[in-house]
Amino acid sequence: MPDNQSAASLNYQLHYSNRQTPENISYEEAFSTKEFRKISDIVVASLEQYLQQIDPVCGLNLTEPAILIEKARSLMTHESEEIAAFDETRLRDIIELYTKTGIQVHSKGYMGRQFSGVLPLSGIFDLVNATVNQPSSFYEAAQLPNVAELIMQNELNKFIGYTDNSFAMVTTSGGSLANLTALLSARNYKYPNVWNSGLHRLHENAIPAVAISENAHYSIKRAIGIMGIGEDQLVKLPVNGKNQIDSSKVESCLKKAREQGLRVFCMVASACTTDTGSFDPLDELAAIAQEHDSWLHVDGAHGASLLLSEKHRHKLKGLEKADSFIWDAHKMLFTPGTCTLLFYKNKERSYGAFRQEASYVFEKQADIYTSLDSGEQNFECTKRPVIMNLWVSWAMHGKAVFSKKIDHLCHLANQAWNILLHEGDFQVIHEPQANILCFRYTPANLDLQTNKHFQLYIRNKIKEEGRFFISKVEVNGEEALRVVFMNHEIEMIHFRMLLQEIRKTGQEMIISQTNIQHQAIPISQ
Ligand SMILES: *Cc1c(COP(=O)(O)O)cnc(C)c1O
Repeated sequence: MPDNQSAASLNYQLHYSNRQTPENISYEEAFSTKEFRKISDIVVASLEQYLQQIDPVCGLNLTEPAILIEKARSLMTHESEEIAAFDETRLRDIIELYTKTGIQVHSKGYMGRQFSGVLPLSGIFDLVNATVNQPSSFYEAAQLPNVAELIMQNELNKFIGYTDNSFAMVTTSGGSLANLTALLSARNYKYPNVWNSGLHRLHENAIPAVAISENAHYSIKRAIGIMGIGEDQLVKLPVNGKNQIDSSKVESCLKKAREQGLRVFCMVASACTTDTGSFDPLDELAAIAQEHDSWLHVDGAHGASLLLSEKHRHKLKGLEKADSFIWDAHKMLFTPGTCTLLFYKNKERSYGAFRQEASYVFEKQADIYTSLDSGEQNFECTKRPVIMNLWVSWAMHGKAVFSKKIDHLCHLANQAWNILLHEGDFQVIHEPQANILCFRYTPANLDLQTNKHFQLYIRNKIKEEGRFFISKVEVNGEEALRVVFMNHEIEMIHFRMLLQEIRKTGQEMIISQTNIQHQAIPISQ
């Protein structure tokens, strides 16, 4: 990145100018209720101002790390022996530095990733979580969060359809950890001795293998690796033209794997995939998994939220037949990161991932209190009560605050797709199944020989320019641009502005490449 750009990217003045803090305080004062009130007033006022002043079309102010380190350091006290009093200006500056750097998730220029501005109630509730600080793996430490988990699992099951009282839900910090937890449960259920005997006995009859589509999220492959299953034991399920697992080809794939001495103990489907937002055919895959004595895990990190929409629910048909699935509330339920819900069809099996004795926390005989503990079902010991951000929104607003927004976001993707269908210089890759859309800028004067990484170049250039933030993916091995509509304030005028920016960036690239070609001096022999 050119120097002038990074220097310009932090183009606002911090107010705090390294003056000495006027006084020192006691630690009792630092922890006092008075401080609590004073600080929270400033924080809320600063954040309100930030939200009011969002640049309507802005992606990211990318700042050079060295510049940011210097700014951040300039905001630190020099006091080392005594406790420096809290300084209002300094706090405001820290919040300003935090909000102005980073992706501007509240702006309409942000169309790039799966995190977003959160529902205010859900976000502000983090203050309550942090203040009462009740780690939620054990009922005695976090009573309301554990009850909220129980309530939410039943509320959400109205849309899933597991048999009442026979399923389980566990919360984790993020979808990656939830995927790992579910796959461990699958492995330990299919290989009940593994916790005692270790991995070496697994291979006695056939080599354990997992079947996934090539579009599975990278956390799935990581989880499989962590479980001691090699890349050679990954059975790749072929996909169709809509980037969904082609269920008509799964049988023969599994048969071939068996002939090669592999036992596919688990199959993983996506609902939906991260790159193109495609939903695998869960109903059909569940039937095949059952026939092959395979555990079916569904990665619904992004798309499980569509269960709440009357209009889109059908895309998850058969989900209730999955042995496990995950659902990120910090994506399409607009809660702060991270809040993931991991569901098991069979409650017993939710205890299988981490079978272990730890007498200081785990009770041999569960009572009415400890039966609500989730410590044995999740990896984390101290765990944030992530359910509270979701439950409080559900309790206050009801389900429609989510489903209405989800419907709208999917509608935006559909409108954008319609626009692209009519733009001759763009190639749209798929009809959106969710709020994710991939496409390419392919003007007539593009020469792919000279511009091999044209899409990637456009994406990076746009990121540097700072007005829009979009992402890139590879679809069928070819680079593409990707937008994710997470902000309901986006209108098609903003999408059209993005297309103009892509055209401008792309044409500048083509022209500069042409000049280079013309100027190129042949290398002498
Ligand atoms: C985002 C995503 C994940 C990872 O979840 P984190 O909460 O970011 O760890 C896994 N799978 C899919 C399909 C995703 O979209």
